[in-house]
Amino acid sequence: MMTKPRTQFVSFLLFLTANAFAQQKDYPIQPVAFTKVHVHDNFWAPKMEVNANVTIPYVLAQCKANGRIDNFLRAGKSLEGDKLSEFPFDDTDVYKAIEGASYSIQNKKNPELEGYIDSLITIIGAAQEPDGYLYTFRTVHAKKPHEWIGSKRWEKEEILSHELYNAGHLYEAAVAHHQATGKKTLLNIAIKNADLLVKTFGPGKIEAYPGHQIVEIGLSRMYRVTANKQYLDLAKFFLDVRGPKGDPYNQAHKKVIDQKEAVGHAVRAAYMYTGMADIAALTGDSKYLAAIDDIWGNVVNKKLYITGGIGATGAGEAFGEDYQLPNMSAYADTCAALGNVYWNERMFLLHGDSKYIDVLERTLYNGLLSGVSLSGDKFFYPNPLASMFQHQRSSWIRCACCISNMTRFLPSLPGYVYAQNKDDLYINLFVGSTSKIKLTSTPVEIIQRTNYPWEGAIGMTVNPEKATNFTIRIRIPGWAAQEASPGSLYTFLNKKSSQVSLSINGKLSSFRTENGYAVLTRKWKKGDQLTLTLPMETDKVIANNNVKDDVSRFVLERGPIVYCLEGPDNKDSLVQNIVIDKNAAGIANYDPDLLNGVGTIQIQGKSTKRKLNSDSLLTSDLAVKAIPYYAWANRGPSEMTVWIPYEQSAARPTPAPTIASTSRVSASLKNKRMFSAIKDQYEPGDSKDTNFPYLHWWPAVNTSEYIQYDFDREHTVSESKVYWYDDGPWGGCRVPGSYKLFYKKGNSWLPVKPTTPYEISKDKFNLITFEPVQTTALRMEIQLPLEHSAGVHEWAVK
Ligand SMILES: [Zn+2]
Repeated sequence: MMTKPRTQFVSFLLFLTANAFAQQKDYPIQPVAFTKVHVHDNFWAPKMEVNANVTIPYVLAQCKANGRIDNFLRAGKSLEGDKLSEFPFDDTDVYKAIEGASYSIQNKKNPELEGYIDSLITIIGAAQEPDGYLYTFRTVHAKKPHEWIGSKRWEKEEILSHELYNAGHLYEAAVAHHQATGKKTLLNIAIKNADLLVKTFGPGKIEAYPGHQIVEIGLSRMYRVTANKQYLDLAKFFLDVRGPKGDPYNQAHKKVIDQKEAVGHAVRAAYMYTGMADIAALTGDSKYLAAIDDIWGNVVNKKLYITGGIGATGAGEAFGEDYQLPNMSAYADTCAALGNVYWNERMFLLHGDSKYIDVLERTLYNGLLSGVSLSGDKFFYPNPLASMFQHQRSSWIRCACCISNMTRFLPSLPGYVYAQNKDDLYINLFVGSTSKIKLTSTPVEIIQRTNYPWEGAIGMTVNPEKATNFTIRIRIPGWAAQEASPGSLYTFLNKKSSQVSLSINGKLSSFRTENGYAVLTRKWKKGDQLTLTLPMETDKVIANNNVKDDVSRFVLERGPIVYCLEGPDNKDSLVQNIVIDKNAAGIANYDPDLLNGVGTIQIQGKSTKRKLNSDSLLTSDLAVKAIPYYAWANRGPSEMTVWIPYEQSAARPTPAPTIASTSRVSASLKNKRMFSAIKDQYEPGDSKDTNFPYLHWWPAVNTSEYIQYDFDREHTVSESKVYWYDDGPWGGCRVPGSYKLFYKKGNSWLPVKPTTPYEISKDKFNLITFEPVQTTALRMEIQLPLEHSAGVHEWAVK
């Protein structure tokens, strides 16, 4: 740990320097602020409108209804009692809603919302303790304090209290609010809080790191606004004090500069890498840069979903092993997608390479946007890439991080369209918009007109105030230039048949590319017309062979959009049984009436069905329709898949007509959506395989439960085999304590007479034979283990 004391003189000098040359060192490239870009396209503008009109008011109302605003009222003593909401990080949902509202009122004036935000800020100010401490879960002084918060301030910060996490979101909100409205009300609250952190943490003071990162990003933002270098130093301290003896779960297993791979909780990780990029930019620290360059390489080569999602596993909401990218059980939570956008934007600002915007764009249009319903009031936490009815967006989630993150991100989108480096203007995203940008030599208005992402033509009008020499750098997306994604994880199955073209004032223009940008240096004058045409074709993308979940499968893409097959668009609402030939041609259409207007892809495929007593499959021709992944799950629970099998071996055929598959399932469970899992004829890889549907009783323990097949008619049966679900040692399910089979005779249930012993083991079918019985129903009674629950992958009967 760093304990070297610093003299008053040095810090005084540093302070002077910081004030005199504020922001001298920062990202070489600067984003063009969201306040300068007015979006008016057909894709993002309506989504931002739904965010402003539905999501923000809805989330603010939920914050009220779920006690989050009362937490502040109680901390400020204007509400009696010590009742608090559920999680010590609940304060952040209010901050994030304020952040989103701030961007939003900048995009479109809304005096009513602005007034409400002002009133919330007053409530937050009253909840702040005199020395600047702001954390309602402690200030309320509940008789029974939350077990995560410890008896003293910061005591449990490295593990559970989230005191610094709350501070980080406060700073993000305060800076956004200040930039959007010019007001200092929330900023002053944040400054008071940050000054307390400066007094409390650092070499020779409390030397602890935040359990959940984000305060680093927040402090860098505060430094930029206030020029107080102590904030920057503290942000760096919080990074340097991490590791090497902590937990990989929160990236404290090594010093941050020694980390080379993305591990642990994906949101914490992405926020940390973002924070490190900020410090690398603000201090010029090359070790930080080297570390995040390596980690970025690890992600794009081994740990990135085709949707741009990160964090493969629900265990610890974490990055998986290299190439571990399961689809149905993909975690890829919305917060992690957002963190991935933040991080990649920073990487671009450091390096000026378009590959980072390629990852950002992939995430933005797919794994991030899927987090919210078209209606704006239903949300995904995990964003899976395959489903068999078990997934659905929720109207509210107790841990609401993903909801409030979605709320704050969408209205900030205009801030990602452009960036500049003095007289170099970067065009990163293709979004119909009007912007006013101050280059070193001249202010310039730039207008984009496009039907992106459905069409590849982007028209731009460049209006410099006076005719001036400067450079426009237009991003040529990797997907438009034969590269599916940076790194070796994804490649195109096909080559593009057409190429990128660019014309200036109607004349086709040759251009040189640098770091993935078309570089156009010339004397620009008012009314200059630029037209970029990107080859918008139906692409097929395959994954690196090491990704076992994607073997013999491809993804349909068109431009930046990842497509999926969903039940409502396909025969019998089934998609898992579909196989599509590698060479089948997809035909793209735009359907204005589907899902608020989306591109679709029609393609010829086959449906597959199992046969009895044979490994070969029954197939029949099928017209298949794909929709954008982000728009799935807006029509109720359904089957869905992103990765489409091109070989029958990878298909999940419709079950053969067995006794089990034609039976009606019942069980001691309310969630009927799990019932069909036990008769779908998918044999899992092992008992903990969550990539296949299964039925479970979690969180029940030590109870007696049942599953039951009512046959389509009377059958003679003498054999049962069951495959248990068991996600030990981390999960809550184990093989059961015991189980017994009963058959129906008249109105009573009689035990079968086994001819082999009841066996209970995991990772295989447990077969039992019994004396033949003629019956219409079979029931399995299952005794759950003493301290665990249990579940069933598959139950077959003969
Ligand atoms: Zn989240």
